Amino acid sequence: MSADPGSPSAAQVELDGVERVFHLGDSDVHALRDLHLRIGAGEYVAVMGPSGSGKSTLLNILGLLDRPNGGRYRLEGRDVTTLSLEEQAQVRSRRIGFVFQSFHLVPRLTAAENIGLPMMLAGIAPRERAERVARALKDYGLEDRARHKPDELSGGQRQRVAIARATIMAPALILADEPTGNLDRSTGVEVVRLLEALNARGVTLIVVTHDPQLGARARRRLLMEDGAIKHDTMAAETV
Ligand code: ADP
Ligand code: MG
Repeated sequence: MSADPGSPSAAQVELDGVERVFHLGDSDVHALRDLHLRIGAGEYVAVMGPSGSGKSTLLNILGLLDRPNGGRYRLEGRDVTTLSLEEQAQVRSRRIGFVFQSFHLVPRLTAAENIGLPMMLAGIAPRERAERVARALKDYGLEDRARHKPDELSGGQRQRVAIARATIMAPALILADEPTGNLDRSTGVEVVRLLEALNARGVTLIVVTHDPQLGARARRRLLMEDGAIKHDTMAAETV
């Protein structure tokens, strides 16, 4: 079930007619309407748009944290909409890293334990786990914070722990939902640079932001409105 990289249909992410409807009492909220989207491996995409336009719903579906009510999602050429929850968890663990606005760290675990968690869940041996955590702490400038709990870290440090955790399994796709939303501007720019450095090494990066300056850093920008993609623009290549 592998994609043919030579074929034009081999987008890394491919949504066809994706629908997501939330039922609230008597009313239906159409969070995504007949969405079509293709994103190639290694792209850097900013997703923008007003609150309630469906940005988080889109990211959750791409991250296999939520399922569409209709349509198809192919990831790396494989239909992932029809997988069981367990198979989806497997794909998520190996291929996708998710970074949230509010960090989503486990409060009672240290920075090092939070970073190592995905490897523990994936059954990676303790010795290799320890080595990779040590390297990640170093890479993200957190060596002197290894034993600190999240509430003993600054916002920027927490997000660095979260990025280290999201990337410890070497995912091909990083999804970040307003990763700078709880950070001051300069810390936010630092965090975005860390994500961009991963993209520079070939990881596909999709960032939701409502900050136009951050959005402008991405080569491709999607503007969402009312559950649909209103604009899909590519920045001119600077040679
Ligand atoms: P954004 O991230 O762009 O602010 P969301 O994707 O969170 O937008 O939400 C899109 C729409 O779907 C909104 O109208 C929101 O209220 C609704 N929605 C999102 N998640 C749920 C949910 N779990 N239950 C009900 N409605 C939801
Ligand atoms: Mg949102």
